[in-house]
Amino acid sequence: MRDVLLQHPAKVRDWREAAIQPDRLTLSAQFYNEAFFSLLIYNPATSENSEVTGKMRCLSLSMFRGRARAGSVDDSASPPPYTVSDARAAVPAPKTSGHRVFFGRIIHSKSLKEVEILPQASLGVDDKGRIRFLDGSVASAAEACAKHAGFAHAETVTLKPLQFLFPGLIDTHMHAPQYPNLALGMEGDLKEWCENWTDPMEASYADTSKAHRVYREMVQKELENGSTTVAYNSSIHPAATNVLADVCLEFGQRAVIGKLCILVGSTHGNWEASAEQSITDEAQVVRHIRAIDPAGELVMPCIQPRAGSYVPPHLMAGLGDLCRSSEPVRVQAHMCETPLEVQNMHALHAGFASYADMYDHHGLMGPRTILAHCIHLTERDMQVMAARRVGVAHNANSNTCLTDGWCRVRTLLDRGIKVGLGTDCSAGYSVSILNAMRQASNVSRHLTIHTGDPAWKLAFEELVYLATMGGAEVCALDHKVGNFEVGKAFDALLVDVGLDDNVNTNGFEHDDMALLKKWVFMGDDRSIRKVWVGGRLVAGKDLKA
Ligand SMILES: [Zn+2]
Repeated sequence: MRDVLLQHPAKVRDWREAAIQPDRLTLSAQFYNEAFFSLLIYNPATSENSEVTGKMRCLSLSMFRGRARAGSVDDSASPPPYTVSDARAAVPAPKTSGHRVFFGRIIHSKSLKEVEILPQASLGVDDKGRIRFLDGSVASAAEACAKHAGFAHAETVTLKPLQFLFPGLIDTHMHAPQYPNLALGMEGDLKEWCENWTDPMEASYADTSKAHRVYREMVQKELENGSTTVAYNSSIHPAATNVLADVCLEFGQRAVIGKLCILVGSTHGNWEASAEQSITDEAQVVRHIRAIDPAGELVMPCIQPRAGSYVPPHLMAGLGDLCRSSEPVRVQAHMCETPLEVQNMHALHAGFASYADMYDHHGLMGPRTILAHCIHLTERDMQVMAARRVGVAHNANSNTCLTDGWCRVRTLLDRGIKVGLGTDCSAGYSVSILNAMRQASNVSRHLTIHTGDPAWKLAFEELVYLATMGGAEVCALDHKVGNFEVGKAFDALLVDVGLDDNVNTNGFEHDDMALLKKWVFMGDDRSIRKVWVGGRLVAGKDLKA
C-alpha cells in the first residue's frame, strides 16, 4: 500500500481531471506541451520514498493509498473534485530528517583568482535547502554524518570517481520570448535583427497561450543546461510576463523578471499605447510577482526599460518613480550595445554627458541594476557605473553574432565593476552558460589578437567566477547563491564527465582542474545529471533515465 505526495503541488493547476478517493488517488492531465513531472511516492511500510519523474504530454495513473486493499475500492463512486489542499492533507510527511550529505569532489569559485577544488569533501544541506557545512577533513559521508550535529540520520550521496558538485550557473541576460528564434537572424546587424526577427516575435506574445507554450519549454531547457538563476527580459505584455513568473516558480528556477517597456524605436506594433499604460502594466507585474512569491525566494521583479533609444524621457522618469516606490526592486536594461544605439539614445535624451548619466538621472542606476552589453562605453560611463555599483551582463555570443563589438571585460573588472555572463538569446544562439564561458574566453582573446596585449585574456579561474559568483553579484544575489559558502542556498549541479558525452576524459587528465576545464570547454547538458535550486531537485538527465 502506498501513499502519494505531489512533490510540486503547483503543477496541479494544469490537471484537467483528477480525483482523490479514500483509498485511491487517480490523476489524469493534459498539457499545452511536454511538461516535466515529479511524484514522490511514500511507502509507510518501509518509511521509504521513491521518486517518479519524467516528461509527458498527458498522464493517467491510479495509485492506492491507505490500508484498504484494492478489491475493497468502490469504482462506481463519482470522484470528488481534486484540490491541492486535498493532496497535502491526504499524505503523511516523509519520515526522514530531510537533511542530505554529499561526499566526493566539490568545486566552486572563491574569487576571480581562485577555484577551490576539494577532491574528497562533504557538503551538508539541511531540510530547508541551506548549506550547513563544507568539510574537507572527513573520509566518508558516514563520517560527516557522525561529525555534524543534526545530520546523524541524513540521506547520503557518495559521488562516483568522475562526478563533481558545481554551483548552479547564472544567466544574467536572457530574452524569454525570443526563444523560438534561436540561431535565426544572424545575417543582419542589431537594427536589422530587431526589425526582421525580434519585433514581430515579441509582438506575438499578445497571445498569452503562446507564452504558456514557449515558456514552459524554455525554462525547462535553461534548467537542463544548469542555469539555476536567470535574469529574464520578457515582452511588453503583462499577462505573458506573469506567465513567465508563474512558470519559473512552478519549475523551481530562481529568476529576475520584468515587463519590457517600449514606446518608440520599434516595429511590427511592438510598442505600448502610452507611457501611463507602460508604467501601470509594469507595476501590475511587480505586484503579481510579489503576490506569488512574497519573500522573493525564487522569483524577483524588476523594472525593465528596453534601452535608452526605446524609452523617451517622460516614460524613463515614470519608471524611475516606480523604481523608488517599489524598493527593493531590480532594474534590467540594455546599454551601449552599438554606436548607432548610443547615438539614438542621445538623440532622444538630449543634454546628458553619457548613456549612464541618463539612466542615473532617472534613478535607475544602483547595486540592483543589471546592464546588458556595455561595449561602447566612455570613461564617464564607467565612472558612473562604478560609483553606482551596477552590474554588467556580458553577452559574448550575442555580441559576436550581431557584430556589435567586443566588451572590455578586463577594463570593467579593473574598475571594480561587477560582471556576469549572459546568453542573450536569441541574439545569442545557445542557452548554455558553458557556451557563454567559451565565448567570453574567445572574445577576450580576440582583443589580445587585435591589440597585441595579452592582458585582455580572461584566465580560466575568471571565467568560472563570472559564470557563478560574478553572475550572483550582478543579480544582487551573492549573499544567497554563487558558491558553496555555509548559509547559502544549495543551488548546484551534479556533473558527470565519465558518461557518454562530448567530454573526452581518457585518463590523461593530470589533475582535477583538467577535468573541470574539459567540462567547461567540451561539456553540455548530457553531463549535467542533476540540478538543484534551493535544495529542490528540479532537472537533470538522471531524471529522464
Ligand atoms: Zn538583450
